[in-house]
Amino acid sequence: MNAIHISGATLEYKTQNGGIVRALNNVSLDVNEGEFIALLGHNGSGKSTLAKILNGLLIPRLGEVEIFGVNTKDISKIFEIRSNIGMVFQNPDNQMIASIVEDDIAFGPENLGVPREEIIERVNWALEKVGMSSHKKSTPFKMSGGQKQRIAIAGILAIKPRIIVFDESTAMLDPQGRKEVLQVAKQLNKEENITIIWITHYMDESVDCDRVAIMNDARIIAIDTPENIFKQTELIKSSGLDLPLPLAIANDLKAQGIQIDGNILTEESLKEELCKILK
Ligand code: ADP
Ligand code: MG
Repeated sequence: MNAIHISGATLEYKTQNGGIVRALNNVSLDVNEGEFIALLGHNGSGKSTLAKILNGLLIPRLGEVEIFGVNTKDISKIFEIRSNIGMVFQNPDNQMIASIVEDDIAFGPENLGVPREEIIERVNWALEKVGMSSHKKSTPFKMSGGQKQRIAIAGILAIKPRIIVFDESTAMLDPQGRKEVLQVAKQLNKEENITIIWITHYMDESVDCDRVAIMNDARIIAIDTPENIFKQTELIKSSGLDLPLPLAIANDLKAQGIQIDGNILTEESLKEELCKILK
């Protein structure tokens, strides 16, 4: 069974001046449990709308969305769907509820009616998973953006979801915070087999995920391994995106006649390749 099954999802918004914007146009997507999918696309391409149909926050006008086989149209199962999918958004400040970290994280399971003993266990486990155990009694408000996002992730984890959607969760963070949050997402994917949908406009965050999906103009126009996606320079550029920087540098060097491997996606592989050439 797929973690996520979307077939032919089409959704429009009504605009204030009476117009209609199509945000999803016949979108289909299947995601296996345990996959780490990066979803890339320029502003307004439909990424957040896609995120919102996953937990039934929005229901597409046409098409179907199933989460572990449960259709989001089935109102009686919306509780099950919501507890299977966690969402981490852009602004960590909007995701804080309580003024003490442990209370903030306990909020989700409390609402689910989880017994007290188990809540304590979940809070400790979630804090450990995001590397914030020593901050249990702290107040989140004075923390760095990266730390706040990790607390927000712990709050989601405490609900024990099998899928987590990160909707540009690193967009407001400094480089250190971005690294921390991506690292946590990758670890949760590996260690807990949590399926990850990682929405971003930073190309470098997508280079070592399982598959990259490109959204453009309300459609998923390509989905493949990072290697196969970033080979398609024209497709990337016409979607309003950039190549990952190491690949762009490698391509420039190649254009200058330097013999360099054309599959370079990470800083490390660029460094290795340059060292080989310069020897
Ligand atoms: P992304 O997350 O890729 O920036 P969105 O899913 O937020 O894209 O938006 C897709 C399109 O739908 C855009 O044209 C956006 O302006 C429009 N849109 C999003 N939310 C609303 C809304 N609540 N009302 C009207 N139009 C919306
Ligand atoms: Mg968005």
